Amino acid sequence: MKINNKERKHVQEIDEKSKMHQKIIFGEIKEENEEANISIEITTTEEINKDFEIIIDNVSIKAYEKKIFIAILDNNWKIAQGKVIRNETEIAVERASKYFEKNLGIKLIPLVRVEWKLESENKIISLDEMHEKAIKDAEKLLGLKQEWIVEKGRSEKNNGFDMLNAFTNKTGEHFGFIFGGENAAFHFAQSNYLQKALNEAGMGYIQVTVIDEWAESLVQHEVSHIFGAKDRDSREYEPSVMTKQLTTEEVIKAFIEGKMWLQCNNWLIEDMKIMIENVELFK
Ligand SMILES: [Zn+2]
Repeated sequence: MKINNKERKHVQEIDEKSKMHQKIIFGEIKEENEEANISIEITTTEEINKDFEIIIDNVSIKAYEKKIFIAILDNNWKIAQGKVIRNETEIAVERASKYFEKNLGIKLIPLVRVEWKLESENKIISLDEMHEKAIKDAEKLLGLKQEWIVEKGRSEKNNGFDMLNAFTNKTGEHFGFIFGGENAAFHFAQSNYLQKALNEAGMGYIQVTVIDEWAESLVQHEVSHIFGAKDRDSREYEPSVMTKQLTTEEVIKAFIEGKMWLQCNNWLIEDMKIMIENVELFK
């Protein structure tokens, strides 16, 4: 490992027996706001699943930042109708991280991305189906000893990952969701709820796919829920990444004005306060 370009010997064991795994040591940095540039070279990877892609090889972390290590399950997220239309999943997470870093001192660090199969007999994937499959498949794909443990906080049982982010290019009941109190976020490329609403509004079955620019807001929205932020009703609250319109007319109007939640990256002060209180959930 190199810290500020100085070589340091450091063994990073991805092993649940190791209580130190994924703990990044800051070396001699003493100032609270000093920045460290850390590059990690992986030298032993025999034990790691071949489809297990290590994303991170260079990360810059400020001493005050809360670091959230993320494992990504990726079901063809980039693809829509046979074409690549979105960036890799970790790009969406890294872009979302910028807002958490700037406003809350939380850095989302996508550590690994694994290819994930989400076969389903249903055209519309239910929240339960997505959830159950991801939690279960994480066990094999991430080399865990059991299903992904959904409790918040750094769990040795999840091999040191703090958060699971699952992405699929398939259609879900909604664009994304988390189950309350959990450390896993789920993202769909299409929302059946929106498609139905547009149909009922006389626009036919338009498929609204998450475009690349929206992916960061989608991640930002769901991860904000993990930190306790709430869905906000646009009749009561200003536009923000958490503010949703309830009727189709309102959605269309907000979309045209660029104020739909997928088009926003700001938070309301109410949600920022809640999230700051919950930062310590990830110790
Ligand atoms: Zn929400």
